[in-house]
Amino acid sequence: MRTLIIHNPRSGFGSDAVFQFERALVHGGDECVLRMLSEEFDARAACADVADFDMVVVSGGDGTVASLLYALRGTGTPVCVFPSGTANLLAANIGNAPEPSALARACRVGKTDDLDLGEVSWDDERGQRHTRGFALMSGTGFDAQIMQAALPRKAVMGQAAYFAAAIAHPRPAVERFTITVDGVTHEREGITCLVANNAMIQADIELVPGCRMDDGLLDVIMVKTSDAAHLLAPLALGLVDRTGRALGRPHLEAFTGREIRVEVSEPVPFEVDGDVVPGLVRAYEARVLPGAARIVVDAMSPYGSEDDGSSRFGDSDVIAYPR
Ligand SMILES: [Mg+2]
Repeated sequence: MRTLIIHNPRSGFGSDAVFQFERALVHGGDECVLRMLSEEFDARAACADVADFDMVVVSGGDGTVASLLYALRGTGTPVCVFPSGTANLLAANIGNAPEPSALARACRVGKTDDLDLGEVSWDDERGQRHTRGFALMSGTGFDAQIMQAALPRKAVMGQAAYFAAAIAHPRPAVERFTITVDGVTHEREGITCLVANNAMIQADIELVPGCRMDDGLLDVIMVKTSDAAHLLAPLALGLVDRTGRALGRPHLEAFTGREIRVEVSEPVPFEVDGDVVPGLVRAYEARVLPGAARIVVDAMSPYGSEDDGSSRFGDSDVIAYPR
């Protein structure tokens, strides 16, 4: 097997887990290229020779992984998402067993599922057009403000930096949003509008029930409260009802669709998979790229099959992660 591991050494806390993974992955006769990304990497250049490999492993935080998956879209090469970042929300949403040896085993078993990606386009303040891919979610408003405020402390505090930033901004601005989903327009007021390929956030809370990345649809999530205490309500309910099926999600409204346009009454900060883009944004378009990423999944993943051998202990019949 020829494997390409693309690793961002600046992601997360500089863990060496990816090297343990590489050691567990390679057997006699294998070849493995470990490509370390530089600070200002070009995702397309990093993936340019992917046709020479049987498998690609993308290792980094959610921003790194999403840019690499977007560069690899439609190539049909199996990709394993290796969690090396601070939050690793995409890996959590894929749901594979996260240990390096378990992920190495899933790569060797080679079971994959074709999962959706999202693509967003917007004009910056000088009228220049930008397009980027996303794997988790993009958002305008309060969430982008929090991501921006969390940046300086992320290296030290990890995920807690996001919560600290949220507490430091207790009165988010209310904007008017015009949301067009597959040609149908909705007018709403609120603090943020998210377009999501995945709706599971920190602490395994699903913002909206039943969001999947293999249904060819994006979820649009409107946060309608202006009060940080109200914002805590869906999150607190999330802790007792993680899927949202029993108690619902107060102050949140969700739509699903393939082509989405979001316009905001005032220019607002904009984030794509946790990366805040420079400047402010008035409007953006998002569309789904159905089944664009061929992702390695194991029996623990909601996208895997019940028992494909990837989660067995050794050669025994004992399944490590029964559902
Ligand atoms: Mg979906």
